[in-house]
Amino acid sequence: MDDKKPMPEVTANEEPRDFIRDMVQADLERGLVQGIVTRFPPEPNGYLHLGHAKSICLNFGLGVEYGGRCHLRFDDTNPVKEEQEYIDAIKRDVHWLGFDWGEHLYHASDNFQTLYDWAEHLIRAGLAYVDDTPPDEMRAMRGTLTEPGRASADRDRSVETNLNLFRDMRGGKFPNGACVLRAKIDLASGNMNLRDPVLYRILHAPHPRTGTQWCIYPTYDFAHGQSDAIEHVTHSLCTLEFEDHRPLYDWFLDHLPVPSRPRQIEFARLHLGYTVLSKRYLTDLVRRAIVSGWDDPRMPTLAGLRRRGVPPEAIRDFVRRIGMSKANSVVDIAMFDHAIRDRLNQVAQRRMAVLRPLKLVIENFPEDHVEELEAVNHPADPGAGTRTLRFSREIFIERDDFMENPPNKFFRMAVGREVRLRYAYLVTCRQVVKDADGNVVELRCTYDPASRGGNAPDGRKVKATLHWVGHDARPAEVRLYSTLFNRPDPGADGDLDTDLNPGSLEVLSGALAEPSLAEMPAGEAVQFERQGYFCPDPTSRSDALVFNRTIELRDTWAKLQIGG
Ligand code: ATP
Ligand code: MG
Repeated sequence: MDDKKPMPEVTANEEPRDFIRDMVQADLERGLVQGIVTRFPPEPNGYLHLGHAKSICLNFGLGVEYGGRCHLRFDDTNPVKEEQEYIDAIKRDVHWLGFDWGEHLYHASDNFQTLYDWAEHLIRAGLAYVDDTPPDEMRAMRGTLTEPGRASADRDRSVETNLNLFRDMRGGKFPNGACVLRAKIDLASGNMNLRDPVLYRILHAPHPRTGTQWCIYPTYDFAHGQSDAIEHVTHSLCTLEFEDHRPLYDWFLDHLPVPSRPRQIEFARLHLGYTVLSKRYLTDLVRRAIVSGWDDPRMPTLAGLRRRGVPPEAIRDFVRRIGMSKANSVVDIAMFDHAIRDRLNQVAQRRMAVLRPLKLVIENFPEDHVEELEAVNHPADPGAGTRTLRFSREIFIERDDFMENPPNKFFRMAVGREVRLRYAYLVTCRQVVKDADGNVVELRCTYDPASRGGNAPDGRKVKATLHWVGHDARPAEVRLYSTLFNRPDPGADGDLDTDLNPGSLEVLSGALAEPSLAEMPAGEAVQFERQGYFCPDPTSRSDALVFNRTIELRDTWAKLQIGG
């Protein structure tokens, strides 16, 4: 990976400190604010992803840390792209991540009437005008960074004319795009956002919440800061691309009768290696069915991560570890993986499953005899209890754990070699059985009856311990996921599609899982010993088990180094 960065030395329990918390703290100490009010303001035009998780953890986290509160506000000013499905999903995902807005659920659309009144207020103050310059022309007239903008003929309309036109806009007298309401600020400003930005556009489209009440809708810039002020938000935290909008944010606060004065602070967006965090592109993947849906376990959406078995604690921990900064950078995906493993290692129960089974027949084990063995559910947590495994003459091991011609460092099963079967016995491979095509189909072994529990009675060395499943194992489909993109900087050459990883999903249909795995609830990750963390997919049924791989135990490169 070429985006390697050292991991910050932050432990899971440490209180985070960063420039935003310092600013908030200073505002409190200077008495500029009485308490902290933040908001998380998603636009309901897609599902939440890991980038949003950074913003959620920051906003809700501050609310909790400073004894204040955080609002959930839907920034629903564009009815064409917004849907109820997304609103429901966003609420579910914020809750799942561990945060609660309590009674503070708001919508920008709650403020449509106030925003409208404030637009008229600006018109009356001579600070806004209706402009019917065609969009292309208007864009050209805004000028460039080196050239000032040019005024449209409509800029000098009288207050009365503007009021009438604006009311006609609202009244539905004009078609989409016929005109807009613009603020009258400064066409020569070095900041393009101050060159008479658009406040309202005409859009004859029903809104999920206000129905057909409105055919004009406020722009993001006009709705966002004012909604903050109406909700008495004290700190409005947003990503860096809004830094240039801050003068406009403040201009509105200066010129409108707002009930409070929020402060906008910007922080860097999360960029993650091998991952695309753009709702537009993620929507596109869903629409083109390149993934199975918003909750496809390869998606960086919270719904996808949940289905993959990633615990919310790991996401919160990851966000704490990356911290807040004012400079954009790409976070190494190994850091996210590390947070997932760290959490799952602590909480995931251990089980055995064989992904690519190879039959093993123990010739000196009595036919029809079944021996019950005890296995611990978590090596570091006795409270997790134990379960019973059934051992008999025919069992299954991992095909990869056997080699006919083992190289030097391969210590697992080979002809003539003794290995340990976890929780069971020491077995020695005696003979390989092949089919007509020369494929290994079965291993004939013997076991040492004195080695129950896997201990050599004479203390002799046995290097490898293998996982196995018994004759009572359940058939399972196992889905192995890799990153959706095959380079750390997808799209760097201009096209995201060409960087899609064709091997991001591998389906194993013939896996075998120990019977207790049939009872795991969907989404709850367990460790398949020596294989990684897996969780039942929501479609899994006790007679047709389906598991998703959450994450491997260690990096693929490291896996080659271990003997068992
Ligand atoms: P996208 O570019 O994926 O469409 P967005 O910014 O348009 O994202 P919103 O629904 O407007 O999506 O985002 C809600 C909040 O989440 C905003 O405050 C936004 O700044 C924040 N956010 C979105 N993406 C990221 C990210 N990658 N890192 C940090 N915060 C993010
Ligand atoms: Mg946005």
